[in-house]
Amino acid sequence: MASKRAKRKELLELAREIGGDEAVEVVKALEKKKETTDEELAEITGIRINNVRKILYALYDLGVADFRRIRDKETGWYYYYWFLETKRLDEIIRSRKLKELEKLRKMLEEEKSTTYYWCGTPGHPRLTFDEAMEYEFQCPICGGILMEYDNSEIIADLKRRIEELERELGIRKKPKKKGSSKSSKKSALAAA
Ligand SMILES: [Zn+2]
Repeated sequence: MASKRAKRKELLELAREIGGDEAVEVVKALEKKKETTDEELAEITGIRINNVRKILYALYDLGVADFRRIRDKETGWYYYYWFLETKRLDEIIRSRKLKELEKLRKMLEEEKSTTYYWCGTPGHPRLTFDEAMEYEFQCPICGGILMEYDNSEIIADLKRRIEELERELGIRKKPKKKGSSKSSKKSALAAA
């Protein structure tokens, strides 16, 4: 279980991912007010009410915000009081990280199994063998000769990011333990 501070940091990161600085401001305002309406949030943060609502719905969809609906007896109007709901935060963040990990592993597989060709000019495209054949091994932008592209740095970078995520998720095998089989998540977690 993450510490309160770590949890808050992850919540703010999550907010940034879904709605940038404005979402971070909305979450901070919700933290302070505990429970409040979209209108009040717009007032406090200076963010347009439509954006505040969009952010609130996005947080709700993720499962980190919820609301109470209260009817004003005199006017008959409904008011929505929003609040943060962080009980499932760990689980939500974990599943997002697992998805990211899956994506990175696929990218790594692709980099490892594909030979790319490139003219050597940064910003010009990398082509697969078939694509390079089509262009007769000339860059479609500058006409330069296409050579094999050394993607070892990309591969190393992907591996680093994968390792980091695996460590964060607690599914990374302990280093130095050679010849470890594809051990179960449970034993890795128990060892952590
Ligand atoms: Zn080129």
